[in-house]
Amino acid sequence: MTTTPAHPAHATAHATAPTGAHAALHARHRAVTPAWLATYYREPIELTHGEGRHVWDAEGRRYLDFFGGILTTMTAHALPEVTRAVAAQAERILHTSTLYLSTPMVELAEQIAGLSGIPDAKVFFTTSGTEANDAALLLATTHRRSNQVLALRNSYHGRSFGTIGVTGNTSWSPTSLSPLQTLYVHGGVRTRGPFAHLSDADFTAACVADLEDVLGQAEGTVAALIAEPIQGVGGFTSGPDGLYAAFKRVLDRHGILWISDEVQTGWGRTGDHFWGWQAHAAAGPPDVLTFAKGVGNGLSMGGVVARAEVMDCLGANSISTFGGSPITAAGALANLRHLLDHDLPGNARATGAVLAARLRAAAAELPAVREVRGRGLMIGVELVDAAGDPAPQTAAAALEHARELGLLVGKGGRQGNALRIAPPLSLTTAEAEEGAGLLIEALHRAGREPAGSERPR
Ligand code: PLP
Repeated sequence: MTTTPAHPAHATAHATAPTGAHAALHARHRAVTPAWLATYYREPIELTHGEGRHVWDAEGRRYLDFFGGILTTMTAHALPEVTRAVAAQAERILHTSTLYLSTPMVELAEQIAGLSGIPDAKVFFTTSGTEANDAALLLATTHRRSNQVLALRNSYHGRSFGTIGVTGNTSWSPTSLSPLQTLYVHGGVRTRGPFAHLSDADFTAACVADLEDVLGQAEGTVAALIAEPIQGVGGFTSGPDGLYAAFKRVLDRHGILWISDEVQTGWGRTGDHFWGWQAHAAAGPPDVLTFAKGVGNGLSMGGVVARAEVMDCLGANSISTFGGSPITAAGALANLRHLLDHDLPGNARATGAVLAARLRAAAAELPAVREVRGRGLMIGVELVDAAGDPAPQTAAAALEHARELGLLVGKGGRQGNALRIAPPLSLTTAEAEEGAGLLIEALHRAGREPAGSERPR
């Protein structure tokens, strides 16, 4: 595990960085980038370098990073193995395209196919999670000759025209136009909605009944169900373990494919399992699995794994200019090797338990905290007002206070009222304790602010 302390030279170099650098860059950013490109913080920051679980901003401030650039810095910042692998590959050749054979790409595909649990698996590499889900939807709809798809309410699957069409979380869904006919089912949020009061078994039975009901209303063939095992952007919510096994029994009767979107839950982040689908293990593996984010530790890589029969169903040619490029595959191979050799999924389980226990204990003194949820190093903290309604202002205030205290966390949920905690999986116990302390203090400070005080979403 990488536990390298911050290099003192960095702190010194950045102590003299100009203040006001962020404000100037923000003005330029706003002038030339889309108005809908969301940034965190009232005064957005630029992160200029990182080491281990720490990052530094352009004005010289150091932070403990509990968000990893949206769950993407999976092992550690500046992991020497990844840096060396990328540098060595860059010295040889940066780019070739999928028109030519590539040893790093084939090696990585072999490893991921083996890890996926999917029999007779083939892998197609993309450059993002959006593109991976788009490819999965193309495969499923072509294989099944139907554009009808099931998705979960409160879901997020990407920003392209196709993936917006299966994104139930409307705050990230700017158009209702879609190439797909999507039917939304229950099950992504255990503690809210019409089934929240039920036991796990009854909740699952109610969701299955809802699925059957929706299928009864579908016109002809349905291609696939796409679902995140733990909803990421949705605020780290999920249904009970085993829900997808119960869904799968229904899907199998109709021949409907199950696409597990593991863009956030993959690679052991949930601690208990290498893939999120394994919390529903009685279902067996999904027909299609998509991944991205952590595998490249920040290199632009995503992909789809599917049974050969499904993967090979496309009749026309396809290429990817950048997908599985030598440089991203070399970096991802080194990253994955480090993760497995150092049992970082096991570390995620252990340090995640420390963090969750600290936060749950503190919640008793924090009336705004409705729920601490998630597993491993994927922990959500849902915030509400005195009436028990979502409190996005409190979440925004907590995010600001955490940053002021030296801690970066994320935010999510349909109303933006859940904090998302997802540090690199090499987090040490001392860092888990330190981060928990900072976050608890940030929550106390946010709770003391008048309700409705102005904070950005
Ligand atoms: N699927 C899930 C579950 C995600 O959380 C995301 C991004 O947050 C995506 C897909 C889209 O991935 P990307 O932003 O790499 O396109």
